[in-house]
This record gives sequence, structure tokens and C-alpha cells, in this order.
Amino acid sequence: MTGASSSNANAQHGLTDRLARWARGLSGKADTEEPDEPPEPQRARSGSANNREITRRRKLYEDIGDFLFAHDLDLTPLNFGVAHDYLTGAHIGVEKAVKAVLTERGKITNGWVESVAAEQRADEITPEALATMLDKVEENLAQVTGLMTESRNSAKDYGAALQEEVKGLSAGADNQPVLTRLVALTRSMVEKTRQVETQLRDNQKQTQLLKSNLDSARRAAEHDHLTGLPNRRAFEGVLRDELKLAQEQGQALAVAFCDIDHFKLINDTHGHDTGDRVLKFVAGLLSRASNDQCHVARHGGEEFVMLFRGKTAPEACEAVDGVRHDLSTRSLVNRSNGERMERVSFSAGVANVLAYEDARAALKAADRALYLAKEHGRNRVYLAAEGD
Ligand code: GH3
Ligand code: MG
Ligand code: MG
Repeated sequence: MTGASSSNANAQHGLTDRLARWARGLSGKADTEEPDEPPEPQRARSGSANNREITRRRKLYEDIGDFLFAHDLDLTPLNFGVAHDYLTGAHIGVEKAVKAVLTERGKITNGWVESVAAEQRADEITPEALATMLDKVEENLAQVTGLMTESRNSAKDYGAALQEEVKGLSAGADNQPVLTRLVALTRSMVEKTRQVETQLRDNQKQTQLLKSNLDSARRAAEHDHLTGLPNRRAFEGVLRDELKLAQEQGQALAVAFCDIDHFKLINDTHGHDTGDRVLKFVAGLLSRASNDQCHVARHGGEEFVMLFRGKTAPEACEAVDGVRHDLSTRSLVNRSNGERMERVSFSAGVANVLAYEDARAALKAADRALYLAKEHGRNRVYLAAEGD
């Protein structure tokens, strides 16, 4: 082997290694736990479950490789990501686009992957898209300010010129030339006003479009794409507002963390798509309880958070337990193969927000109660001991 080809092989090997590590991250099977998750002894998996998991990942990695080589695609993170999303069904938009192009042309190219990735990105409100919108808002504002100044100046000029000409008018004299100039002056003022009006109307249209774009950007920034529930960021705002309201009105305020039990296993057994459907289903059950005094949000992953104003923590516990019981008695069917799924359940921890120094401390207490609920067997709702 020549020096060059050996270093090529090394580079290729390094890339393969990086892609392998990346694949583990993409499929949510990173070797490390989320840093903010408390260690849970029950999570230690049996050797055979671990082996199954490794085999599954290896198979996925091979499938991705086969897919890339079958279509002669470059080994780029973009191609790898699209192949992953298609093969795991992690991204419904990508999966549909790939299926469509395969049916139509039977082949995928590097260029096509780039365009489909750009298309999917266009649906997302990226920081760049937001920045562009804000630039446009600024531009529009500057335009309106400019138009206003222009219109004020021309009104001023018109007034001054009018005064000047009027001075030249005298009784009995031949005022025809002055009148002609006055008519011309007025015509030009009318024309200028018309132009400003047209520009303002255009500007108004653009501003309305921008407003609706910004509204959807705000909605996207505060909602979870999969379940349609408010996300963690939106929830933080709700918590601040509701805490203020509860304090002002002397009402109780309780928070609950709900976490689906063994959700990783659901994904592993039935696939990510079914996992997504379970998430949506649980989100739907939880949000049935919501109203203007009860808020539900997706806090992240398979974790939901609920906030109850006007309910004490034990009352909130009872409400959450009702949903838990409802879910645990249902027998769900895996839509992709019609098979009945094992029971799906969640565990929860509830805390009285007003018993803690601040909302953050109350959230931590609810999380600790959730951890205990998991430790004591899952499918249960625990109340945090106050001041804990
Ligand atoms: P526990 O009972 O201790 O909570 O176990 P668990 O398996 O539910 O918890 P763990 O934190 O180990 O796994 C959570 C899994 O949730 C891992 C991740 O792949 C999966 N997940 C997170 N977000 C999504 C999602 O949007 N869709 C799907 N299908 N899975 C998700
Ligand atoms: Mg979790
Ligand atoms: Mg879980």
C-alpha cells in the first residue's frame, strides 16, 4: 500500500468512526445519560437487552451505509442524516420525500439531498430566518419614518411657497401669473401626497405579511412540533405569569412532572414512529385536563409538565393520578402492524410551588418526587414532601 492510499484509508477510517459516533447520537442512543437526569439504578439494562441494542444500532449503521453506497452518495453528514431519517422514519417529511423520489426516479443524488434538506429547513423557523424577518421590520420602519419626514417637509415647503405667492397677490392687479404658479404648486403637492400614499399602502401590505410571519415564528418558537403542546420555553413564561396570579389572588399553585415509563423500550420494540404516536397520545390525554387554570407542556423528550392554579398539591396529585390510571388501563395498538402493545404508563412527581423559595426549587422538588416514583416501581404519582 502506498503512503498516500494508506493515509486515505486512515482518513476514511476516521470519518467512518466519526459517522458511527454520530449515528449513535442521532438515534438518541448516546452512550452517556442526559447530564441533568438523576442516576437511576433501575435503568441498568440486562446484558441481553444491551446486546440487542448494540445489534440494532449496528444494523442501522450498516443499512445507512448500504443506502449511501447504493445511490452513490458522498459520505457527508447531510447525506448521512437524510439516510438516517429515511431509514428510521425519524423525520416524516424526509421519509415522504425520499419515498416519492424513489418511486418516481428510483435514484437519489447528492444534489437532490441538498435540495430536500433545504426544503425541510425552510419549514423550520431558524435564527437566520428570524433575523431576516427582523431586518425587514427595521427596513419597513425606516421607510415609514422616511416617508413621514418627506411628507412633513413637502407640506412645510408647500405652506412657505403658498405664503410667498399669496404676498404677491394684490387687489385690482393682474394676478394671473401668481394664480398659475399657485395652481402648479398645488398640483405638485397633490401629486407628492398621492405618491406618499401609494408607498405607505405598499408598506402597510408588507408590514401585515411580516406580522403574520412573525406570529407563526412566535408560535413555532413556543410550540412543540410533534404534539402541538406548548414547549418548555413557553411553559417557563406560563409559570412566571401563573405564579404572580396565584400570589396576587391567594390561590394554590401546584406543578407536576410526568415521565413516560420505559419509553426507550417502546421505541426499541415498536420503532420511533410508534414511539412518536404514543407521545402524541399521552400529550392528548394530559391536555384533556387543561383549561385556563391548568396548563400542560412538553418539557422535553418523553417528559411533560403540568401546572395547576387553584389546586393544592394533593388535589393536583389526584388529578394527575386520574390521567395516569386512565392511560395505564388502556391497551394501545401498534398501528404499523396492528399488534397490541404492552401497557403504557407514566410516573409523576407533584410539588406545591408556593412552598419553595422560587419556582425553580419547586420544579426540582417535583423532579425528585418523580425520581422516587420511578424508583418505587413506576406507574405512580408521588407528592413531594414540602420543604424537601
Ligand atoms: P424511565 O421509565 O426511567 O423514564 O425510562 P425511559 O426509557 O422512559 O427513559 P430514558 O430517558 O432512558 O429514555 C427516554 C427515551 O425517549 C430516549 C429517547 O430516544 C426517547 N425520545 C425522546 N424524545 C423522543 C421523541 O420525540 N420521539 C420518540 N419516538 N422518542 C423520543
Ligand atoms: Mg425522561
Ligand atoms: Mg421515561
